[in-house]
Amino acid sequence: MSDEPVRIPLPFHRAAPQALLDGQLRRNLGTATTTIRAKRAAVTAETPDWQELRQAGKAIKEHTLRNLGHYLERLEASVTRAGGVVHWARDAGEANRIVRDLVAQTGAREVVKVKSMTTDEIGLNEALAEDDVVAIETDLAELIVQLAEEEPSHILVPAIHKNRAEIRELFLEAFALDRGELSDDPAQLAAAARRFLRERFLEARVGISGANFAVAETGTIGVVESEGNGRMCTTLPETLITVMGVEKLVPTWRDLEVFLQLLPRSSTAERMNPYTSFWSGVRDGDGPRSFHLVLLDAGRSLTLRDDVGRETLRCIRCSACLNVCPVYERVGGHAYGSVYPGPIGAILNPQLRNGPHDAELPYASTLCGACYEVCPVAIDIPTILVEMRRRGVEERRSRSVLPASSLEDAALRVAARVFASPSRYEAAQRLARLGQAPFVKNGVLRGLPGPLAGWSDARDLRPVPRTSFRAWWRARGKEGT
Ligand code: SF4
Repeated sequence: MSDEPVRIPLPFHRAAPQALLDGQLRRNLGTATTTIRAKRAAVTAETPDWQELRQAGKAIKEHTLRNLGHYLERLEASVTRAGGVVHWARDAGEANRIVRDLVAQTGAREVVKVKSMTTDEIGLNEALAEDDVVAIETDLAELIVQLAEEEPSHILVPAIHKNRAEIRELFLEAFALDRGELSDDPAQLAAAARRFLRERFLEARVGISGANFAVAETGTIGVVESEGNGRMCTTLPETLITVMGVEKLVPTWRDLEVFLQLLPRSSTAERMNPYTSFWSGVRDGDGPRSFHLVLLDAGRSLTLRDDVGRETLRCIRCSACLNVCPVYERVGGHAYGSVYPGPIGAILNPQLRNGPHDAELPYASTLCGACYEVCPVAIDIPTILVEMRRRGVEERRSRSVLPASSLEDAALRVAARVFASPSRYEAAQRLARLGQAPFVKNGVLRGLPGPLAGWSDARDLRPVPRTSFRAWWRARGKEGT
């Protein structure tokens, strides 16, 4: 198990109401997710074989996961043949120890980082800080979050919760600039960050990256990004260390053809990423002198053994599911208390991390199914959410935290009988029509009693209509004859 200090965030049910009170956050999130959603819809609609591509992505990942041991060994052999060194890490603590040792061997006091979600997962920056090594995030949004001493709130746009006025204030202080030297114009903000980062790149002796893909047959690691910082991070320092979850593997170079179409369209809503960098081991006179690949398990093997949860490992971290999720759009990423927020976080965290509050994350969903519709590798997130809820209830029952049978169970059993029979369903409609009368005000159902209050306290519920669809249909049929 990890020996890193564990940060325990607020549980979702307490963090979400706080986030909802932040009007600026909701405006930022609403604007950003609406824009990305529309752009994504356009670039996927112009791809005639989009659904076939999704199925191909799903099939490649399924095949790889079924044969993960074989392909990981193949990857190790390929990376070694190309002059790299492969390290195996069972958990966050082991991965951090490996990276700390490697950095210590170089004597570097500062490292530059790119694509750092996996390193965020294991808390690498904090681990390096114990050795007085400063880790500089080089993705612009990651840098913003780091300077603000906050956590990322979106997989792809970690600073989605910040607007440009807030970023200006942050840069003025961090880069010690006078107010007249920097406006909130995005080009000026980017230029200020670029000046700061260029110096860091030129001085860095160690680069640390994540990976979007690793190709088993060639030992090639791939990173896609939009700012060019990945290219610099992986080519300028003498030592390059890549920390990668074992599920990022694809068997062959040719498989990238599928994912390099699926990923940019689903994430940044682009036809291709501005920068796609690949490297295989080391080469004389070109790029880093040494390359280390840290393969991280950290709960992935356990997830792989789970018949239902396994497909979570197909995820390519595109973030499309976040942008369509009505819950994420309102509360943002911090409420999930993890680097993996939104629908994918709601199924990934309970499996990989299984933290003290993660069991409630599967409830952070309306089960509307939008996440499944957009997922480029067709992960059936709603089904996994429901299964996790079921397991959560069983687990709490086994510990007697929940009674073996509850009022809710009884209500659902009655509902099942009602919905199974047209006559019972219509009788229930008639009863509801009569029973709702005292609670209907101005065309809205309010103030329901007892356990039903949860349904009417925070929603404007429509009352049961005077005429049901079935009654209307029957009447219409009679008229027509
Ligand atoms: S679950 Fe699917 S949509 Fe969500 S981040 Fe992963 S690949 Fe993208």
